[in-house]
Amino acid sequence: MPIINKEQIEIIETIGDNHIFSGIETPLLSDAFEKSDDEKIKNIEHYFGQIMNELGLDLSDDSLSGTPYRVAKMYVKELFYGLDPKNKPKISTFLNKYGYKKMLVEQNITIDSACEHHFLPITGHAHVGYIPKDKVIGLSKINRLVDYYAHRPQVQERLALQILNDLQTSLETEDVIVMLSAKHLCVSSRGIKDKDSFTTTIEYGGCFENKSNREEFFGIVGNTSI
Ligand SMILES: [Zn+2]
Repeated sequence: MPIINKEQIEIIETIGDNHIFSGIETPLLSDAFEKSDDEKIKNIEHYFGQIMNELGLDLSDDSLSGTPYRVAKMYVKELFYGLDPKNKPKISTFLNKYGYKKMLVEQNITIDSACEHHFLPITGHAHVGYIPKDKVIGLSKINRLVDYYAHRPQVQERLALQILNDLQTSLETEDVIVMLSAKHLCVSSRGIKDKDSFTTTIEYGGCFENKSNREEFFGIVGNTSI
């Protein structure tokens, strides 16, 4: 486990809350999924207990004794289940037999994510639109895909791109648009402590490069608040 040195800490402090975004793929170790979930939970339980110890918390207290296990299980099985490709939902597509060729929008999809810089929640909504070519997708699959990519330590910009890319591949069309509006607890509960601001990211391809298609999408989605 690398421990950062003084210069690296200085760089991190200088960057501050300007979240850096390194690429579309979530940075993962090559052996990320060699251990079983149970092994990971056992190890994280140990390390989180150490963190609590360092904070001076008495783990022999009834109320605290189960916390390391609860946090470990929550990380592996709930908050970050979307790291593991084996948990990816099956995205079955169907032939566009009814010949629907106009815009389809799935909106107000819940986002429950966590920022990878602070491990604090990111909550909000995703709105996804596409114009089918030969393939269509079951509506709830879009929600499941958003949920999967959201449940890993994330950067909102990357989350939008990962959803976009996956849908473009599954639907075999570039004509997809993804808009995310979300609140970051690392902005509202620490640092600047701004309770009201939220962040919107928009990614699109194909016919959504065309302004009138984007405007049609924004018209459907409306003035989004989260
Ligand atoms: Zn953050």
